[in-house]
Amino acid sequence: MRRLEKLNLTNSYARLPQPFHTRLQPTPLAGTRLLSFNPAAAELLDLDPLEALRPEFTAWLSGQAPLPGSEPLAALYAGHQFGHYVPQLGDGRAILLGEVQNDRGERWEVQLKGAGLTPYSRRGDGRAVLRSTIREYLCSEAIHGLGIPTTRALCLFGSDEEVWREEPESGALLVRLAPSHVRFGSFEVFYYRRQFDHLRRLADYVITHHYPELAEEKNPYLGLFRTVTERTARLIAQWQAVGFAHGVMNTDNMSILGLTLDYGPFAFLDDFAPGLVCNHSDYEGRYAFDRQPNIAHWNLSCLGQALLPLLGEPVEAAVEHDNAVLEEYAPAFHAHYQELMQHKLGLREPRPGDAQLLYDLLQLLAAQHIDYSNFFRALSRFDSTPGARNTALRDMFPDRAAFERWAAGYRDRLAAEQSDDAARGDAMRRVNPKYILRNYLAQQAITRAQQGDNDEIDTLLRLLHHPFDEHPGYEDYAAPPPDWGRRLAISCSS
Ligand code: AMP
Ligand code: MG
Repeated sequence: MRRLEKLNLTNSYARLPQPFHTRLQPTPLAGTRLLSFNPAAAELLDLDPLEALRPEFTAWLSGQAPLPGSEPLAALYAGHQFGHYVPQLGDGRAILLGEVQNDRGERWEVQLKGAGLTPYSRRGDGRAVLRSTIREYLCSEAIHGLGIPTTRALCLFGSDEEVWREEPESGALLVRLAPSHVRFGSFEVFYYRRQFDHLRRLADYVITHHYPELAEEKNPYLGLFRTVTERTARLIAQWQAVGFAHGVMNTDNMSILGLTLDYGPFAFLDDFAPGLVCNHSDYEGRYAFDRQPNIAHWNLSCLGQALLPLLGEPVEAAVEHDNAVLEEYAPAFHAHYQELMQHKLGLREPRPGDAQLLYDLLQLLAAQHIDYSNFFRALSRFDSTPGARNTALRDMFPDRAAFERWAAGYRDRLAAEQSDDAARGDAMRRVNPKYILRNYLAQQAITRAQQGDNDEIDTLLRLLHHPFDEHPGYEDYAAPPPDWGRRLAISCSS
């Protein structure tokens, strides 16, 4: 376990030439205090959790004073926002301090989100508000708890600083960790500026640090595109299976490592509403839950285009390679999704007819407005004995007969593979979470924190780190939303 002075921070991104980033110091927030600390993320840095008690922890990790070894910078990137190319974005409020190599050889970048103005802030103020910071802190850890790749969160600071959004709010700061924060948009910026040397330099950087096995391939850049495509297909399948809507799948929020990145107006589905648009500012529903798989493909085509100058000569050949990889996306996505859903249903092996069984179920859940996560969790207690009534499950449905029709087919399907109820139930409870970060739960933690009480944040963090376990006494946290929490409008403003 390391002390802060012994984190041995380095910053490989700072070694890249000037247009990649701007070196600068964070701007401290007034009256910064630690609101929540996440020991699970501290482990990634081999950081002794007791270090959080030192005043230096708050000073160094909130940007009041330089963390030993850090070389703070804001990174340049661009991206397609809501389908339109924006030539310059970049870290407008995030500052990368450097990276820590832990004793297992993993590298984790340490980034302060909400650390003040940078050359890429455009019209923003460089700050993050408490509300959105709590949401990202909790959700990134919840997504990790669900076994889905994501950036992580080390800790959360509050402050006395007032930050103006639709109304005055309090400024906050998140310490985010990821092996890399490079995005699709980090490549796009050099493609559209026609700075192909920088483009190659970035691809080489990503391959060297994160995909070293690709360096051996005949065309490492094509290998990079293929690997990112595969990882993205898998990520989106995981989102769809767990009922997670990201809300702002702009290409600047798409990780080159296939991580869930940049938590804004996200939502976990309560009722199964496939067309859910969780971003209040997404007027056209571009990022609706059920459009995410297609949007990811579109985003990958943007990345593929940006990589074209590296994919081969002549350009016709590069385009052909690019298209061949893009064509792998849909089958990869469907294969992952079908496998995940097969496990959610407790089926040992795939069989013809499973897709129909799943389709019928999803139609039923949507038509009857059934809570998605709670249904699958309850399904783990399905009694497949002929004649069993399964009343607890059936009574979730306003139209009980419709459920019974589906359940008859499910029972037959289970019988076809001689499924054992107890073993299946155990397996299903390992993939169907009891606890998800419902918007209303996040909102309760936010409201309490705004009143100065941070206990709810820590309670949620504990539950969400182990979402598949039973937590006696905390059953309320698995409840579907109360009326006030059903349609919380979450805007892009953060
Ligand atoms: P997002 O939609 O949160 O992923 O952000 C898109 C772009 O806007 C990124 O370049 C962010 O750094 C920038 N940005 C968002 N909020 C702010 C802010 N309050 N101050 C400065 N830049 C911001
Ligand atoms: Mg972003």
